[in-house]
This record gives sequence, structure tokens and C-alpha cells, in this order.
Amino acid sequence: MRYAETGYNLEIDLTRGNIEKVETDPRDTELYLGGLGTNAKIIWDRVPPETDPFSPDNLLIFSAGLLCGTPATGCNRTMVTSISPQTRLFAYSMMGGFWAPELKFAGYDKVILRGKSPNLVYIWIHNDKVEIRDASHLQGKGSVEVQDLIRQELKEPDVQVAAIGLAGENRVYFASIEQGRSSCSRQGLGAVMGSKNVKAIAVRGTKDVNIARPDEFIGLINEVLEYIKWRNENPIPNYMPILAGLGSPQEMKHHDEKWHTENFVWGNARYRRKGFWTDEIAEDWKETMETMQRRLISCFNCPMKCGATISPPGQPTYMMKCFSKLTYTMAAFSDLEFGLGIAQSATEYGVDGYSAPQVMAFALELLEAGILTEQDFPGMPSDNEGRFNWLLDRIVRREGIGDVLANGTYWAAEQIGNGAQAYAHNNIKKHEQLPLKLSMLDPIYYLMYCTNEKITITQIEGNFPQAPFATREEREAFVSNWIQAPNERIKQYVLDWEPRTAPFYPTPDMCCEIVDWMERMHYIDDAVGMCAGLSAFPLKPPYHIHNYPKIISAATGIEMDEETLVKTTKRYRNLVRANNIIRGMRRADEVPPEDHWKKRFPELEKELLDKYYKFKGWNNDGVPTKETLHELNLDYVAEEFERRGIYSETPSYEIPAKKEAEV
Ligand code: SF4
Repeated sequence: MRYAETGYNLEIDLTRGNIEKVETDPRDTELYLGGLGTNAKIIWDRVPPETDPFSPDNLLIFSAGLLCGTPATGCNRTMVTSISPQTRLFAYSMMGGFWAPELKFAGYDKVILRGKSPNLVYIWIHNDKVEIRDASHLQGKGSVEVQDLIRQELKEPDVQVAAIGLAGENRVYFASIEQGRSSCSRQGLGAVMGSKNVKAIAVRGTKDVNIARPDEFIGLINEVLEYIKWRNENPIPNYMPILAGLGSPQEMKHHDEKWHTENFVWGNARYRRKGFWTDEIAEDWKETMETMQRRLISCFNCPMKCGATISPPGQPTYMMKCFSKLTYTMAAFSDLEFGLGIAQSATEYGVDGYSAPQVMAFALELLEAGILTEQDFPGMPSDNEGRFNWLLDRIVRREGIGDVLANGTYWAAEQIGNGAQAYAHNNIKKHEQLPLKLSMLDPIYYLMYCTNEKITITQIEGNFPQAPFATREEREAFVSNWIQAPNERIKQYVLDWEPRTAPFYPTPDMCCEIVDWMERMHYIDDAVGMCAGLSAFPLKPPYHIHNYPKIISAATGIEMDEETLVKTTKRYRNLVRANNIIRGMRRADEVPPEDHWKKRFPELEKELLDKYYKFKGWNNDGVPTKETLHELNLDYVAEEFERRGIYSETPSYEIPAKKEAEV
């Protein structure tokens, strides 16, 4: 019997219309866990690096995390993996909500799509009955609307539907996949779904998920629940409110947006507006939120209620997630009412709430700079809000200039030329970064920004404090009940962290250890399907490196201690990187936006990256060494690197950067 996992994947060949239920190898679970880990192995085995993201040969994998469908609180993530049209790299984006547990209840761990359907279809999974159904009548429908239409058509009110909108159908490079109150937004996986002519995947399941040692498992989860309760009653003292608690309910529950509006950047990720948040604006935004917000909502099996249903005047109700509450408002220099309204349209169209606002603001900057002209925007209204709505519409339809902008700022700038590249200033690995511009280089975030391959907000958030506590007493109080710290050294780093030591404390050696640990927590979450809001993202979360091995072990029956979990995570973390290395990613790509920090320290930055690569067992170009791969039972990766000449090539940092004219 298989525990926690179902032991079956659903393989769907869209070209042939063939559906297969395939038993998986339990040894793969031991080696790579599930979710991201096993997805990385499948992409490595089956998608050659020469494969175009929109080729039928590309795979699109929807994977429930290993512990999804068990009673583990907050464990509900679907990990969607493919090759991104934007970065041309291995992409893994995930969504919360309800879809992943439903897939497990239907009897599958993953849905693997390959090929391309000749017509627009949706997939209907109802336990053992799986159908590919015509979706021609759903063409052009919004990604939220289509979820309701499919439920009505199937006469199944409890079916969970993951769907794309117009942006996905038209292969917009930053198209999302929407589902319930969540979405899989980063890196354009909605466009890959659109390229396969799949409008939606609907799931309903009524089977059980087996647990290896149920009493022990429930005991551990009860401890987690108790701790969540305690943490909700005891936010971290002397810490900024939005980071003092768990999850991200503060986005919807609280109205004080001073910190976000004054610290995140406006327009095309350029301007901070210190002093923006006045009493008058606070009152106005509070009223807007209270008028439009209907209720707070949670993902499957979670008490945190991070999301909200929003009803903008004259528009259908939708579910607002997290920070897209502000991204449109701030890109357009507008108010909250505008932001909540356009976010409804953007959710229906199915676009990423970080990239889309930046792309539109980028277009308007190019217009102001004379790189684009009025002729490129025929019929565009003159008011700011009207311009953003107009642009969004053109982008998702790929009409006129929208067809260029639909490829994101990096590719659009390449296509437009004439100096447009300088305006695509907020990218890492060809993908729009978080709209942040900071003052002093932060060594921990520098490493996370550079080396993270997920490209989400979680790449800069982790279990280590973001800033030092002001006094020794506060630091001692913080570490006194810090059960989540992996070892005593990490506690000592916090104790010794005096204010105003940036960017030279924590030292590069300490940063390596801290970042490695924080990254590991994200990788565990992404394999088991845990929401980072209860694990890798906040300070002092209920899931951590000391209880995770016991929880995974009790659920799956796999013998797991901390050492084994660390090694397993390291294995698929390197496999994710290997998938990118064979697609050409090197050190030269691991560069944060030039203007990300005002105060930069090139020598320190070099030392940080040199040391971190070494710490991770990678060579100085970021390629995992043969020794590292051997230690992780990944000799097959080393052999492929060798076969492709990767170990003997000129390091990327020694190759002169291309001039704009040559690009
Ligand atoms: S913490 Fe928030 S985002 Fe995470 S599972 Fe719970 S409700 Fe969803």
C-alpha cells in the first residue's frame, strides 16, 4: 500500500487523445519526495533542453504535494511545472486553494499533459473516469467565469477547476492559471496550458488518502494546530506588523498600507513615495476596502483566512489574493478603488499580478521617453486609469502594441529596441521581479535574489529576521523560544546582530548558512505541498526542520530524520538547477536588477556569490560539481553535463557582455 501519495499519475497525450493511469515508482518518492522534487525528475528525464516552451513535446505537470489530501494543516499546494516561455528555463509555480487535495481524493498525485489538442478542450477527472471534453463554447471566457460554467455543465458544485483566461489562450508570456482563491501566476505557465489548447482541468474525488501511522501523524498535526493558535495570539514583538504573524491575512484584514505603499515602488517599479500615506488616504482606502470586501476566505484545511471576496461596483465578485491588492494601484499611481477593479479584470483574463502592472507601466514609460509614439497606442484614453485598462485589454488580446507587450518587458524591449532595454530594468532571468527598490544592499537577499530559481516573493522571505532587533534584550527574547532555528549557531548570529552593521553583517559565511537553510525550507514546502505562509515564509512558523521529518515519516512510512530530509532536499534542489544548467543558465544570469539597491558593494557581492556557490557544491559558474552530484546519487546528471561539454566550457563571467546593438 502507498501512503500519503496515491502512487498513480494521470498521463494525458492531448495530440492523440490518449489517457493513461500510470503507477509510479515508490523509490522516486524516497529520492525526490513529491511535488516539485518528482516534477524536476520527470522534466529531466523527458523534456530535452532544446524543446520550445510551446512545442507539443513540452510537458505541463500539475502535481499535488506529497502531503496534500492528508489532514496536515495548510497543505494544499499544487505545483505546476514546465518550461517557461518567458525565462526559457525550468519553471515551477504553485497555487493554493483546493485543487491539489481534490486530485489526491480522485486517486492521482500528478496530471501530466503532453502533446497538443487539435481543438480547445477541458479535462474532467472524476475518480477513475477521465474525459477530454470539447471546450469550444468556453473560448474567450474569463478564468473565474469558466470555473462556474464548468461546475454548472457537469452538475457538480464541488468540482475544483483550474482554468486559464484569454491571456493563456493567447499565450501571453505572463499568463496565469487561476483556481478558487488562488493562482499559479509566475513564469507564464498559463500560456503553456493555452499552447496545448487546454482551457481547464476539473477534478472531483471521493477516495481516501492512506496514512502510514495515523495516530502519530494526527498527534503531530494537533501540535501544529496548537502552535498556530498560540502564534496567532502572540505575534513577534518589536517587529513590523506585516511580518509579525503567520500567513498573509494582514493583506485583507488590516487597512494600514503605509509600509507597502511607502516601501514598495510605484510606476514601472521606480519610485518610492515616502510620506504618501496620510490620514485622508488611510480613511479613503479603509472605506473602499470595507465597501468592496465581502468576507475573508481560506485555502483548503487552513484557519488563516488570507484571501477575501471582493465585489467592485458593476463587476462580478472575485477572490483577491495577497499583494495584487496593491500592484495595479501602485503601477498606475492611482487609488485602491481602481486597483481592486482592474484586478478583477486581470483575474478573469488570467495574468500575473506582479508582471502585468509592470509591463503596462513600462509601455507608458516608453511612450513618455519617445521610444514608442502615440501611433503605437491608437485610441488609448488620456486618463491614467483608462490607459491601464486599455493596455490590459490589448495585451491579453495580443492586439497592436499589446502583441509585443504580451511577451513581458524583457522580450518586448528586445523587439522594440531603440534603447527600450534600459526601461526593462526590473528583471532577473528575463522575468519581472518584485516591484522593490531598496536602499542598502542586503547580503542575505542578494544571495536569494541571485540564485533563486522560483522567482516569486518567497525568494526573499524566510525564517531568519529581515532586520536586526534594536537591543540585546529583544534579541535574547527572540531566540529564547526559537524552536525553528536549525542549530545554535544561527541563534548566535541573531544575538550578535547589531543595528547599522549592513551590509557586512551577517558575514558572507554566515549568509551562506542562513540562505541555504531558508531555501531548504522552501524546497521542502514545494515538495510536500505546504503553504509557505505556515512554514518557509514567516518567522517562527509551525512547520520547521525539526518536526517536518517526523510528519513526513508518519504520513508516508518512509524512515526520515533531519539528515535524510536535508540530503533528499539537496538532491532535488540540485536537480532543479541541473534542469536550468542544461538550458544555459549560468552565473552571468544570476544578477539582480542594477538599480535594485541604491548602495551596491561589488567586491562584497562577488565574495558572497563565490562563497555561496562553493558552499552549495557548485563550481564558480554555478554548475553543480561532479562530486556534489555523485554524493547525491545524481551521477546521471554529471554524465549529461560531461556529454554536453558543460564542465569544460569558458565560464560565463569571462565572456564579455553583449552590447545592445548585438543583441
Ligand atoms: S496561510 Fe493563507 S495562503 Fe496559506 S494555506 Fe492558509 S489561507 Fe491559504
